[in-house]
Amino acid sequence: MGTTIRCDLAIVGGGLAGGLIALAVKARAPSCDVRIVEGGATLGGDHVWSFFGSDVAQAHRGLVQDMVVHGWRGYDVVFPHLTRDVDATYYSITSERFDAVLRAKLPAQAIMTGRRVLALSATAVVLGDGDRIEAGGVIDCRGPGDLDTLELGWQKFVGHELALPTPHGIERPRVMDATVDQIDGYRFVYCLPFAPDRMFVEDTYYSDTPGLDLPAIRARIADYAQARGWAGAQVVRREAGSLPITLGGDFEAYWRSTGKGIAKAGMRAGLFQPATGYSLPDAVRFAIALADSGDWSGASLATFAYDHAREHWRRGAFYRMLNTMMFRAGDPAERWRIIERFYRLDPALITRFYAGRSSIGDKARIVTGKPPVPVGRALHALRTTAWR
Ligand SMILES: Cc1cc2nc3c(=O)[nH]c(=O)nc-3n(C[C@H](O)[C@H](O)[C@H](O)COP(=O)(O)OP(=O)(O)OC[C@H]3O[C@@H](n4cnc5c(N)ncnc54)[C@H](O)[C@@H]3O)c2cc1C
Repeated sequence: MGTTIRCDLAIVGGGLAGGLIALAVKARAPSCDVRIVEGGATLGGDHVWSFFGSDVAQAHRGLVQDMVVHGWRGYDVVFPHLTRDVDATYYSITSERFDAVLRAKLPAQAIMTGRRVLALSATAVVLGDGDRIEAGGVIDCRGPGDLDTLELGWQKFVGHELALPTPHGIERPRVMDATVDQIDGYRFVYCLPFAPDRMFVEDTYYSDTPGLDLPAIRARIADYAQARGWAGAQVVRREAGSLPITLGGDFEAYWRSTGKGIAKAGMRAGLFQPATGYSLPDAVRFAIALADSGDWSGASLATFAYDHAREHWRRGAFYRMLNTMMFRAGDPAERWRIIERFYRLDPALITRFYAGRSSIGDKARIVTGKPPVPVGRALHALRTTAWR
């Protein structure tokens, strides 16, 4: 016979979204009995999450600042006809630090790792080991819902952290090096100098398909490192991902795919930037908004989360329209031209774009000028994709 655990708020899934909600709610209401239930042995999985300083509002930085492991004051991008240095802060968080900060800031009983959840409702959670949680409110943060309800392209990547025998002498991240061979859509390499002798190198594709050809991509990373003069490198960490790039779809069906009347957050609520698949800025915004709402009981929590996610989907229409044009109207081998053109724009516009906060003026500026894809194909793509 299992035990019944009672608490105020049960967060199911101890990844990025769930962890940030736990921290934000505890900071707002220290007496709130929060439990974060995670199937894995640690919180946050095995990721490096990066973000631009401008992705997170000044007033919200306190939520993530202790998790930042690396920070830079600028970055560059390189395309066949454009090299650009941008003075903007950029940060990385590792899962290890995320786990450590949560364990330091939350009471021990709040963290329930190694506990697989079988089922949940708005106020109860059933665990695989026979225990049960009865909570004032439950929020589901178990990663993506049914992506088949959406029309998608993919941002997919394999990253290797390299330990180099000699210092690389590079101080700024290169967030896009698109001078590499264009394969499987838009390809670029992303490099983060973690230390004088450490370089994180990620080979990335804006592709029509999520599959990763690991042996081929690993070989390309090794070739790239060799070409940059980083010979004799040891791979000390690896990551891989295929993130959804939303062209269109049915938000209501996506929401329903993981249960009606249940609060959700993170990827499960569709809270990610449609053009990058990145979710950290939205995870911070949602965690703070939820904490500020002050009501974490079942039905109100579900309504609050639904309203927030629905509004996020509505605001994403512009990005879905751009994605539709890039993935459906253009030639995959020419996608790099669209991104190169984008990087000629004002850096402030670029940072607002990544934060998912483009102004009306930004949107007008992005679509002004000679279209980078054939107009007839663009109009057809926009007519046949549910990007609105
Ligand atoms: C390799 C990789 C790198 C990324 N890099 C970035 C980046 O640099 N910047 C950025 O903004 N975004 C990045 N993303 C995208 C996105 O931010 C992450 O996927 C993010 O972790 C999503 O947060 P989440 O909380 O929704 O899901 P997750 O962080 O995946 O958390 C879901 C959690 O739920 C747990 N879980 C699932 N099922 C159960 C169950 N039945 N019982 C208990 N626990 C369960 C999982 O173990 C997991 O810990 C990256 C994604 C990947 C895959």
